Amino acid sequence: MRYISTRGGIGPITFKDAVMMGLASDGGLLLPQFYPNVSSEQLESWRKLTYPELAFAVISLYVGDIPADDLKSLINRSYSTFTHTEVTPLIKKNGVYILELFHGVTLAFKDVALQFLGNLFEYILMERKQTLNIIGATSGDTGSAAIHGVRGKKGISIFILHPYGKTSAVQALQMTSVTDANVHNIALHGTFDDCQDMVKELFGDLEFKEKYSLGAVNSINWARVLAQVVYYFYAWLRVTDTTAEPVHFSVPTGNFGDIFAGYVAKRMGLPADKLLLATNENNILTRCINSSDYSLGEVVATVSPSMDIQIASNFERYLFHLFADDSSRLKQAFAELKERGRISFTPDEMTQVRTDFCSASVDQEATLQTIRDFFAETDYLLDPHTAVGVKAALDLLPPDSARVCLATAHPAKFSETVERSLGFQPPVPESVTALYGKPTRCEIMDADISKVREFFIAHIG
Ligand SMILES: *Cc1c(COP(=O)(O)O)cnc(C)c1O
Repeated sequence: MRYISTRGGIGPITFKDAVMMGLASDGGLLLPQFYPNVSSEQLESWRKLTYPELAFAVISLYVGDIPADDLKSLINRSYSTFTHTEVTPLIKKNGVYILELFHGVTLAFKDVALQFLGNLFEYILMERKQTLNIIGATSGDTGSAAIHGVRGKKGISIFILHPYGKTSAVQALQMTSVTDANVHNIALHGTFDDCQDMVKELFGDLEFKEKYSLGAVNSINWARVLAQVVYYFYAWLRVTDTTAEPVHFSVPTGNFGDIFAGYVAKRMGLPADKLLLATNENNILTRCINSSDYSLGEVVATVSPSMDIQIASNFERYLFHLFADDSSRLKQAFAELKERGRISFTPDEMTQVRTDFCSASVDQEATLQTIRDFFAETDYLLDPHTAVGVKAALDLLPPDSARVCLATAHPAKFSETVERSLGFQPPVPESVTALYGKPTRCEIMDADISKVREFFIAHIG
């Protein structure tokens, strides 16, 4: 399998090169040249596989340059860190299936992809005798999952900037309690945007970027999307017993990475029916799907903060396919976005969008109400992101069908919101209790680029 860029200026390149490139160097996103087709016989033959076995079956279709045994061992190591034997178990409650993606080390679905990406980075770097310095800004979830993905790994150092005192207590501890020598937490006196500006400035200095082999871990890496394709197959195999049954998926969406993985699974032949894209008040994608209105708004802070996004970076991957894999139409769309703050679509394109997705936006009031109602009916606690997807599924998907709702975080990770909704705190898993009292390491500094740069140079491996 080879990879090309949505902007038409790269490749075809191998899987390992695509992983190391991350963002395509022509400014686009990398995609496989085609989607391998999984026949219904092949799909049936996967029914008895464990999660890591299924992950190997799916992922190996996209990897042409890592020997099978090595790839198996990378996958096995990545999922052995999950605390549930099924890795991503399904639970049926109130007529919907909850696909629990939060049994990894940081209790959010990002662990599914970042445990695998960390191991992949280490494997490729060792082979190439190279090193990588990852720099990223986080408002909480991505940073902690990335740190746990690469802690203690050879050839990699990671520097994560977060706004001091502005993440949840659990999120901060999940980062600062990692004291491995290759992990560097920086807490800035400032906002998440200040952190992001620092990172952008370092990446913008091309000489600096080259000299210190800077890399990123944001959701544009193809390997992250690929790791997420697996659990759509896993869920489908667990909730059906014949290949004819359609299954709907409801996905709480921010950067469009998770739901794009569902789209890829469908393109490979998974008989998924509706892909329901659920948003909070940051609903540009819902407006696009339901009323052809892809126009930028202001980011609103909500109780589902990991979905507070206006420009969903992975949407570019879908747009490329919507535009019949035509890079010039894609570039024209992004030029329009830059000039006029919007993208316009033809009626035929909109028909296709509505064939691929349906969508609903769930506001904060309804999110809190859903946590309450669902608990009253089932005794099951939803985190606010998952609640957005569950509410959309209950409203939009036919009740007599298999409806799978992706549960993207453990309720204890957003306990403040759960408490606001229900009046009590969700039970805290042992891994979280254990964080309190652990030694921590974190550099607190002013949002001053020269200080950040100095710290980085003094601490690289
Ligand atoms: C990142 C995140 C999301 C959004 O996922 P995307 O792939 O960005 O669409 C939803 N819920 C939680 C808890 C997250 O951490």
